[in-house]
Amino acid sequence: MTAPTRVTVLGAGILGAATAHHLARRGAHVTVIDADTRNARSTTASFACVNGSAKTDPGLSALNDRAVEEYRRITHTLGEAAVRFTGQHFVATDPDSLRIAEQRVNAARSRGYGGEILPVDALREREPHLRLDTPPLAVAWFPSDGWADPEALRAHFLTGLITHHRKATAISPTRSGRLQITFADGDRTETDRVVNATGAGAADIELPVSRPPLHVTPGFVVATDTATDLVTTVVRTRQLGIRPDGSRRALLHSHDIDRLFDHDQTTAERAAETLLNRARRMFPDAGHITPRRITRGSRPTPADGKPAIGESANLPGYYELSAHSGITLAPLLGRLLATEILTESRDPILSPFRPDRH
Ligand SMILES: Cc1cc2nc3c(=O)[nH]c(=O)nc-3n(C[C@H](O)[C@H](O)[C@H](O)COP(=O)(O)OP(=O)(O)OC[C@H]3O[C@@H](n4cnc5c(N)ncnc54)[C@H](O)[C@@H]3O)c2cc1C
Repeated sequence: MTAPTRVTVLGAGILGAATAHHLARRGAHVTVIDADTRNARSTTASFACVNGSAKTDPGLSALNDRAVEEYRRITHTLGEAAVRFTGQHFVATDPDSLRIAEQRVNAARSRGYGGEILPVDALREREPHLRLDTPPLAVAWFPSDGWADPEALRAHFLTGLITHHRKATAISPTRSGRLQITFADGDRTETDRVVNATGAGAADIELPVSRPPLHVTPGFVVATDTATDLVTTVVRTRQLGIRPDGSRRALLHSHDIDRLFDHDQTTAERAAETLLNRARRMFPDAGHITPRRITRGSRPTPADGKPAIGESANLPGYYELSAHSGITLAPLLGRLLATEILTESRDPILSPFRPDRH
């Protein structure tokens, strides 16, 4: 009998966790390693909307649509706590967002993903607590979207696996065709394959090959306790993204607040206050909205905005796994990458996202 392939997964965020899960299920000998820099983990700071509606690039849309399908396929194993298909409202209150809403609906419909422009009054019926300062020009509705609880998902994927807390600093080939990982304390280990799912930390790991350039931008969410359920679906307006986060809980996010961290060096307290004030203005009759958790994280994205996934052509056995929209993509990418590592069967949907495309 041949020994199982030894695979080391660096990074226990959602992408590493999903891949480790599928590798272990397929019989690999998996070691999960995480530097445990919790505040920097993108997964913990995520808005975690599971969606195919936000992409219009054909390759990315196809990938996201399939990733949403993957969630539906495995929902029964994840349980209600981990993912909810509530649908998403995208509310356009200015010409720019109107154009985006129409583009997304047209793209989603043409792919059969599902999307429609609703009569503007419909939002009032569906989300009765919501008040908008500016009347909407259009409300786009994407019934197949939803949201996930990233920590519940991570816990599910890591069940039965031990996470070793160490910081990897370098990966290099050995003479015998294996890979050597060096750690911050100078210790070293050898393995057959390495998956680099270290998110924003990936750029700090020394490699003998070049890797896809990464943009790391700040991201910020506020988890709240609320007197009543503010929304039943994911709602995106220019001012605020809001979604349910369990009973009498909501999650708040806004892209313009994320950008403030870059430009203004704003503080987490100021950003949270702004998001909370926006939420209080948009839900004036809903009673108290108080912060439960304020999370500032980072959003690692390959520079061309597309995931980088697969084996490096110049470093056999070394696999990249880096993506924005990682919550949406993780269950699918984890399964496809594990299959590829252990059987060498490559799914064509990943062709546009190979790490050596640059
Ligand atoms: C505000 C915000 C909103 C978002 N909204 C959405 C959304 O609505 N939908 C969606 O799909 N996605 C969303 N995302 C993106 C999504 O959260 C990320 O794509 C995803 O979490 C990335 O997961 P990851 O596993 O690659 O990285 P991470 O979660 O960052 O995990 C990487 C792990 O690697 C570890 N690590 C780092 N360096 C080393 C090292 N040298 N050695 C060992 N371990 C190391 C870290 O400790 C960390 O645990 C959002 C992100 C943010 C910040």
